[in-house]
Amino acid sequence: MAKSRMKILLTRKLHEFAMTELKKRYDIYVHSGEIPMPKGKLLSKISQVDGLVCFPYDVIDEEIIENAKKLKVISTYSVGYDHIDLQKAKARKIKIGYTPDVLTNATADLTVALMLDSMRRITEGDRMIRGGNWKVIFGPHDYVGTDIEGKTIGIFGMGRIGSAVAKRITPFGMKITYHSRHRLPKNQEKKLGAKFVSLDELFEKSDAITVHVPYTKETRGIVDMRLLKKMKKTSHLINTSRGKIINEKDLIKALRSGMIAGAALDVFEKEPIGKNHGLAKMRNAVLAPHIGSSTTETRKKMAEITIKNLIYGLEQKKMIYSVNLD
Ligand code: NAP
Repeated sequence: MAKSRMKILLTRKLHEFAMTELKKRYDIYVHSGEIPMPKGKLLSKISQVDGLVCFPYDVIDEEIIENAKKLKVISTYSVGYDHIDLQKAKARKIKIGYTPDVLTNATADLTVALMLDSMRRITEGDRMIRGGNWKVIFGPHDYVGTDIEGKTIGIFGMGRIGSAVAKRITPFGMKITYHSRHRLPKNQEKKLGAKFVSLDELFEKSDAITVHVPYTKETRGIVDMRLLKKMKKTSHLINTSRGKIINEKDLIKALRSGMIAGAALDVFEKEPIGKNHGLAKMRNAVLAPHIGSSTTETRKKMAEITIKNLIYGLEQKKMIYSVNLD
């Protein structure tokens, strides 16, 4: 009797080449329609499958994992894995694959773009023109932003993306400071031209602060009024990591009151946000729809890694990138 094929659930369709590879090997079920996949449907499907391909908005919590009686591998199409209950996965010996490195450059590029946009008020000007409000031209004080050269960038979380931002910023002539859980080795600091400072000093002294820590119980809401109050009135806050690291209510207060000059955000506490969201009403906020890794090339590489992680995990081989559950 032929060996029965393993079953895979994808909470969303991947690129055609990835689907073809998966179909060759497995019986696959692909969710279509409402995003994220409704929890009830996820709960019922997960009980039948050996592998899961998920996205950062899919909440793979205790209840889902309890129901996943046959599940052996979770492969997430993201570097962030804050949406997966790691302890429960570990207890059930479920392997987790993710996609670091391949999205580092794209996300660092977007971070720099957002920082420049906020400091030079590009999107704000675009909104003004489209709103038919460009009345005066070229005045000494009209639409002035801030110089980049000679200013200080504060990188919060000097990992893969934080370091890639530092490399990109060097030619702009900014001083580079950072705060991270661990200080980098001296030679790496030297290579990046980066100075380690305390978290408070990072917020006090920087002209632009960019957030690259992962979302964890330690970083949940860590950028709140206490830290925002420390920022210079002329400073900008950039976030391409996860929305819940920043307390949005506090950020809106800081933007509205002129406590800080601007913010540029790719991620939000709850996504998607609409035009009535408090941040969407702020003149001095630049907003992007979670597009850090969203380039044609990067998204394709992420699909390649996602399916390789899944296939290797199910075949008991070493995954390309697996989350260390110890
Ligand atoms: P990474 O290489 O793991 O870097 C994260 C850095 O933050 C590490 O240096 C880490 O220190 C540090 N860190 C962790 N917890 C900290 C804490 N409590 N306080 C201070 N520093 C802390 O990750 P990455 O590849 O750069 O990605 C960073 C995050 O970006 C991901 O977790 C993901 O959520 C987000 N992301 C978003 C997008 C997007 O589309 N907007 C795209 C890609 C990534 P250790 O080395 O000591 O752990």
